[in-house]
Amino acid sequence: MSDVVTRIAPSPTGSLHVGTARSALFNYLFARKNNGTFLGRIEDTDRARSTKEFEDDVLEGLSWLGIKPDELNRQSERGELYKEYLKQLLDSGKAYLSKEESKINPGTQIEVVRLKNPGSSVSFEDMIRGTITFDTGELGDFVIARSIDDPLYHLAVVVDDHEMAVTHVIRGEDHISNTPRQILIQKALDIPQPYYAHIPLILAKDRSKLSKRHGATSVNEYRSLGYLPESIINYLALLGWNPDDNQELFSLKDLIQAFDIEEIHKGGAVFDIEKLKWFNREYLKRLSQSEQEEGIETFLSPKITESEGYDIVRLRRVTPLIIERISVFSDVKILSDEGELDYYFIRPTYKPESLLWKNEGTLNDVCSHLKHLSTILNALSEKEFTQQDIKSAVWGYAEEKGRGTVLWPMRYALSGRDKSPDPFALASVLEKNETSARLEYAIKLTQ
Ligand code: GLU
Repeated sequence: MSDVVTRIAPSPTGSLHVGTARSALFNYLFARKNNGTFLGRIEDTDRARSTKEFEDDVLEGLSWLGIKPDELNRQSERGELYKEYLKQLLDSGKAYLSKEESKINPGTQIEVVRLKNPGSSVSFEDMIRGTITFDTGELGDFVIARSIDDPLYHLAVVVDDHEMAVTHVIRGEDHISNTPRQILIQKALDIPQPYYAHIPLILAKDRSKLSKRHGATSVNEYRSLGYLPESIINYLALLGWNPDDNQELFSLKDLIQAFDIEEIHKGGAVFDIEKLKWFNREYLKRLSQSEQEEGIETFLSPKITESEGYDIVRLRRVTPLIIERISVFSDVKILSDEGELDYYFIRPTYKPESLLWKNEGTLNDVCSHLKHLSTILNALSEKEFTQQDIKSAVWGYAEEKGRGTVLWPMRYALSGRDKSPDPFALASVLEKNETSARLEYAIKLTQ
């Protein structure tokens, strides 16, 4: 273990935001790369807005992403510690009690703790942005605690980072303006400054801050849509950081190797859902067959899963065709709600005229084509019922009579839809018995 210590310090006042997840990821990567420790700190001093549900959501989200902190603390359990530091500041004269009217309850008097601000200029080296200097004069003697028992954010953060021996504070750039106040408190307490790295915010396409109105912003929303943790991690890592070469796919392990915090861009990073989907598709393709089946099954409509034709063997055969058509498992729900997957499991019904290619010809002709196809296919063994063998068996007849005239009714008889995969792929996933039954049904309809 080196002495590098990083931390993610979420306030449990909302579910795990993708921006917090990205900060956590960068802290995790930096700590792992340096054989250090990655801490979690729940900043729940705002009792009114913090909830246990949000805390659980944040921690579950981080675990699901595979970036669980090595240790966890809660500010609400550390009140005594903040009090000691506040006393130290009061005793040394670096801070003072001030009787003031409460802003929350006008008319009532409270005794706040204010830091004596020398008003000097403070500088820090930001690992991403270089030297940042602030003139702190205009901050005045700012409040660091609502009372000796009720510290405010800046004091708690400084005390915790020091007590937890945090060496690198890696956080969103919205905290840059907080840093001078925190440095003033460090100076007053005579404790060392950690290194700082402020990472750019995640922006929406219109370059405003990513928010609810732009779509899903919480990790758990993506999780329930069936996104894979690997793709979210990979995407978030590349949001505002590019590796030296053009490699795009990185596992968490690869990222630990390749990641360099000083290479993070200074400008805001635009969240592009299409790119996230691209990553997700790549990882979907790499899942094992059974993981793919499980993911698909979760999003199939009950109409399908409760139908007679639904079983694991059929699902197994259909899985590669469905994976071809989706970027994320919840696309299965969309396809299935639109009836795009019914025909794999449920025998279609339709009007006989639909079997006519371009509405031309007669049902008599269709009937004779289907009978012929049925004879050809019945001659194939179950083992020969592959996409390739079916195509080879049928192709000559289709060429002779006209492809559309033969293959349209075949495909329609198998799917009952104007659009579907080609009839050879369909027949092979449906297998011999079901294909034969569907052709028989169509033959009956046209007789
Ligand atoms: N609790 C703060 C937040 O959730 C983070 C504080 C910090 O990283 O210093 O934004």
